[in-house]
Parts: sequence; structure tokens; C-alpha cells
Amino acid sequence: MVSKRLLLFAATTGYQIRVFADAARRLGLELTLATDHCHRLEDPWGDRAIPVKFDRIEESLAALRGREFDGVAAVGDGPAVLAAAAAEALGIPFHPPAAARACQDKFLARQLYQAAGLRVPWFFRAGIEEDPRALAARASYPSVLKPLGLSASRGVIRANSEAEFIAAFDRIRKLLETSHDLRRKRLRHLQVESYIPGREFAIEGLVTGGELRVLAIFDKPDPLEGPFFEETIYVTPSRQPDEVQRALVETTARAVRALGLRHGPVHAELRHNNKGAWMLETAARPIGGLCAKALRFSGGMPLEELILRHAVGEDVEAARLDGPASGVMMIPIPRAGVYESVEGVERAAALPEIEDVIITAQPGQRMLPLPEGASYLGFIFARGDSAATVEAALRRAHAELRFRIATALDTFT
Ligand code: ADP
Repeated sequence: MVSKRLLLFAATTGYQIRVFADAARRLGLELTLATDHCHRLEDPWGDRAIPVKFDRIEESLAALRGREFDGVAAVGDGPAVLAAAAAEALGIPFHPPAAARACQDKFLARQLYQAAGLRVPWFFRAGIEEDPRALAARASYPSVLKPLGLSASRGVIRANSEAEFIAAFDRIRKLLETSHDLRRKRLRHLQVESYIPGREFAIEGLVTGGELRVLAIFDKPDPLEGPFFEETIYVTPSRQPDEVQRALVETTARAVRALGLRHGPVHAELRHNNKGAWMLETAARPIGGLCAKALRFSGGMPLEELILRHAVGEDVEAARLDGPASGVMMIPIPRAGVYESVEGVERAAALPEIEDVIITAQPGQRMLPLPEGASYLGFIFARGDSAATVEAALRRAHAELRFRIATALDTFT
């Protein structure tokens, strides 16, 4: 039998790509990587990867001409947009290009949610060259300012007053000026939204023929109230009452329809308060990087394998999350500086319910907390009998870790 061919779009060559590669091997799929990082790849990918540029769709599609594939998958927002264009050109099921693009554009997404009758905060878009004083007078408080071209909460700042708005605006402008190619129009804009109070959740799902199937609802038990919005703990299953969970699922299904997502993974972030569920953001890709390790399906199957099976047309309806409960803690960066070392990893890893402690920071690496920075020191994974036990285990393990971060004199602030 000829093995099925799958094309994986990814901007990084990290952990999640290896999990995809292992899963493809197990399934007997022929996996080809399309990436803009060819020069950094080690064998066995090096000479087989297809070089693409995620911001140059037409040129990248030309590199695929003449090739045939049975499915596509993507890691990351930019790769998902190119994967969508490629899937359309190749005639294979995936999310449509317009839907993948809308997921990447916070302004367009809000407009689509609003048109579909979803609950949205008031919002407006502003150019970074506009006068923050005038904009601050237009906003009501508290509000949230966020750059349109960034992700992972980078540059997302809550402002409780006009003075805080102006300070946040200046800080975002500085961040965009130092870190981006401002010729791209989207990167010159930020969005202002009213602050949505409430608890935050993440939903992992698979869409088939436009219908959402929820794989997991994650509670985020630490309050995310700003001024910056650093993720820490994700735990599943949700401990919320059924009606809250139903509202989260229903809102995600409506957002999927509003965006036009059709086939493939989705990762959504929502809030819930006394008015109901509010969609923050829906992404046309799975939960990022190492965090996916918190999810395991029937028979120990990783999320990536489920995605590959789904991408090549297999019926994955029967796959269930391996329970009873699991979670991940993204270890926050306590302050800016140069990461030196950590102590206590073995002790933390030996604790009950703790599955793994992975420190991703490298000695000598500069660490920058939010809003300018965007990474974590590492990740802690736990699995147990209940969400409460898992959450407690993650906190105990984190308390065992002692990080040494040296002060860097020229740190960006
Ligand atoms: P990013 O793509 O950078 O992750 P998001 O729009 O998802 O941007 O915002 C990141 C985080 O900021 C959210 O997870 C949430 O905690 C917080 N946030 C964003 N918008 C709002 C809002 N309107 N009200 C309250 N919190 C918000």
C-alpha cells in the first residue's frame, strides 16, 4: 500500500515537530516539512524540507507546485495561513485561507464575531503614529491595548485610566519599533478593547466539515487581571459547572462558524463572567509547543498524532482524552535578566502527580518578562485523579524550583 503523504508547515524545528515526526513514523505516513528554517535543520529533515516564506504565500505555493499530498498540518499562526493556502491549491481539506487569516487578525476576528452576534467588548483599531492622548479620551476604562501583529500576550497591557493608556500606548509603540518590520501594515496597529472581567479558559478542538468537536476545556486557575497577562497554569477537565462549560463550548462553536474554520485543529481562549462567555481569540492551530504534552488520548496518543490522523481523513471520533486529570504550568519569568541556573528540578520531578519538569531556558540566555518578552523558563506537567490534585501538584513543584537570574545592565524596559 502506498503510504499517505502529509505536509507539515512549521516555523520552528522544536519539540512539537519531533512529536509530529514520531507520530507520522508510527502511522506509516510520509511526512514532509515546509519551513522557513531549512538552514537550521539537522538531518533527517535537512535535504528533504521544502523552503517556504510564511509571509510570501504565492512564492511559497510555487515551491509546492507539482507535489502531491493527502493532508496538511501546521504549527504556529503564520504557518497555518500558508497551510490553508496550500491546502486550497492542492485540493485537500483544511481551514480556508480567509478563515486562517481572520484568526491571525484580531481586528477582523472581532468584526466577524460581532457580525455573527457573539458577545464582544467594544473595540477600535489605532495606528501607532496616532496621538495617544486623543485615543485615550475615546476609550473607557478599564481597557486593554494589544498590538495587532504579535501573539502570546506580548504587548498586551491593561489600562485603568487615561494616564495608564498613554503609558501603555508608548510602551507598545516602543516594542513594535524595536522588534518589527514596520513596513507591514498590520504591525503598525494596535487594538483597544474594553477589559472583560472574569475567569479565563482555553479550549482545544478539532473541526470537521465546519463542526467543532471539543477535545479539552482547560481552566486557568490563576487570575489574569493585568496589567500584563502572563499564562501560568492550565488544568483539564474543567471544574466549572456544566452551564459554564456549555457556554464556553457553544461560544467556541459559534466563533468557528463566524470565522469560517472548516477542517483541522483549533485552539481558543475565552473568558466567562455573569454575562456569559466571551471569545478572546480563536487560532487555526493546536495549543503551542510543549503545552500539548498535557493532553494525551486513548492509548497514550499525543495530540499531534490525533491531528495527523484527522488531517489524512481518518475518523477520530472515538479518541478520548486519557483521564482523569492533567495540567501544565508555564513557568513565568520573575524578572528581566540573564538566566544562570535552576535548583530543585529533581525534587520537583519526584513529587507525586508530577510527570515532567522541563527547563527550556539556556544558561546565558536573556530573559524578558511580559509585556516585551514572550517566553517561559520552562514547563511542569502533572497528571492525577482530579483537577484539584493536579493544580496543587503543579504549585508544589513550582515552589521547589529556585532560579538564578543575573541582572543585565542593559535590559530593555
Ligand atoms: P495574544 O494573541 O497576544 O495572546 P490575546 O488577545 O489573546 O492576545 O490576549 C492575551 C491575553 O490578554 C488574554 O489571554 C487575556 O488574558 C488578556 N486579554 C486580552 N484581551 C482582553 C480583554 N478585552 N479583556 C480582558 N483581558 C483580555
